[in-house]
Amino acid sequence: MEIFDSHAHLNWREEYKEDIDQVLENAKNAGVTHIMLASSTIEDSGIALELRKAKKDCGVKLSCMVGVHPEDACSFDEEAKMQLEKWLRHKDELGIVAVGEIGMDYHYEDCSPAYEAVAFIYQMGLAFRYDLPAVIHERDACEDMLFMLRSLHKQKLLREVPGVMHCFSGSVETAKILLDMGFYLGFDGPITFKNARKAPDVIRMCPLDRLLVETDSPYMAPVPMRGKRNEPAYVKYVVEEMARLKEIPAEEMARITTENAQRLFGKDT
Ligand SMILES: [Zn+2]
Repeated sequence: MEIFDSHAHLNWREEYKEDIDQVLENAKNAGVTHIMLASSTIEDSGIALELRKAKKDCGVKLSCMVGVHPEDACSFDEEAKMQLEKWLRHKDELGIVAVGEIGMDYHYEDCSPAYEAVAFIYQMGLAFRYDLPAVIHERDACEDMLFMLRSLHKQKLLREVPGVMHCFSGSVETAKILLDMGFYLGFDGPITFKNARKAPDVIRMCPLDRLLVETDSPYMAPVPMRGKRNEPAYVKYVVEEMARLKEIPAEEMARITTENAQRLFGKDT
């Protein structure tokens, strides 16, 4: 099996500082050939870039995204914008293949919606200008998110393939709107939980060529690892569940989702 884990926060130093080499080894042994390092702040965007460089020979390809998560939107200031631009101007040498994770999150009230909207729209602009897909996080903010995406779409400020809606947990109707805009949908551990509700229907409906698998490590470990710290090696359980829902072999699902991620992010960085 060849699997592309398209969302893992291995660049959270405290979570993996003791055993990062073991985690990468486990991933390799589980058939993971490519990991997309997910970032949520300027600091961990920088750590992702360092980690990619430091682990060049680990046997698993590492790619990076840079961006500021909605929970940190209050810290999205001039300095943050300048740093992102500085990296994006050298995206090819640095292995930056996406802007993320960015988005809207009304679940925690860390930051007012207005701050989040400013940071989100600004970073969507960066993704458009530097011709990169966006990795988007949305929680409890679906309506506003769709409103902004539709506006960007109308103003022709969205790429033809705008990016991925990461850890998608929305309805079939929302999924259809996003698919029409050209988005991919990423799914994680929760699809393996007994109480998974909307995701199975969305996966059954979603065209095979728009599905991505993710771990969102260290969060959301899939069954049978639920409750533990997550790591990319466990992405195979997400692949297996997705294959079961689509009624195809797991190897086939691994191959398809790897091709999808390579189409979206590129395969050589
Ligand atoms: Zn994430």
